[in-house]
Amino acid sequence: MGAFETEHMMIPQEKNGVVYLQFPHLARFPAVRHGVFTRRGGCSDPPFDSLNVGRGTGDAEDRVRRNRARIAECIGGTEPVYIRQVHGTGVVSLFRKEGVQNPDLKNLTGDALVTDIPGRNLAIQVADCQAVLLYGADRKVVADVHSGWRGSIHNILGETVREMARRFDCAPAHIHAGIGPSLGPCCAEFIHYQREIPSRFWGYKDDRDHFDFWAISRDQLREAGVPAENILNSGLCTRCRTDLFFSYRGEAATGRFAAVIGLR
Ligand SMILES: [Zn+2]
Repeated sequence: MGAFETEHMMIPQEKNGVVYLQFPHLARFPAVRHGVFTRRGGCSDPPFDSLNVGRGTGDAEDRVRRNRARIAECIGGTEPVYIRQVHGTGVVSLFRKEGVQNPDLKNLTGDALVTDIPGRNLAIQVADCQAVLLYGADRKVVADVHSGWRGSIHNILGETVREMARRFDCAPAHIHAGIGPSLGPCCAEFIHYQREIPSRFWGYKDDRDHFDFWAISRDQLREAGVPAENILNSGLCTRCRTDLFFSYRGEAATGRFAAVIGLR
């Protein structure tokens, strides 16, 4: 509990009908641009209504492209980089430093993106999984992490913080983290948890087989050295709030919403 439980503290923003939310601690940094986009303000029809950014969901390609363009307009800078997410622990870094061979932006696979390049926006797409936004304030480095339950049990958050420290020289004590809208303990029921989730996580389970993945992320970030007071949780459950977000568990056929972060 305490400072971590900051429900409904996200700052709502709206531009041209597109509604997105900002974490107050990240919004305080002039160098950072970010937004967790709701499903509102896009052009897709049900069940992808309306700001769907997910390809391979069944939505029309041109709608997804237009939705992504609307998000780019809100965020500013270049069109966000999307990555083919595979529920693994691959961290892809994009370096500002000259002489470093960065991967082809059109063909990225992994579940976390890190960069120190101004104007290079990063996007993660989700519908129940967590998107976690990170900012290393001492080195001006941003990261965007896809942490579903598989990513959580393999600690992709810890991997990403270590990558920021090792390759970008970020001190974890200066990293700020925002845990986006995702499946909350109210709805994260895992009836097959005994074969799906390692026993070291069973302490995060209540007596109805619901897991608190928000608490798991908080603890993984803290173990990686991120101070508790730098970690904010949106406290918004996607399945409870399908008016605002896409939820795979809540809707099955649905879209993906975007969490974007970049540097000015
Ligand atoms: Zn819920």
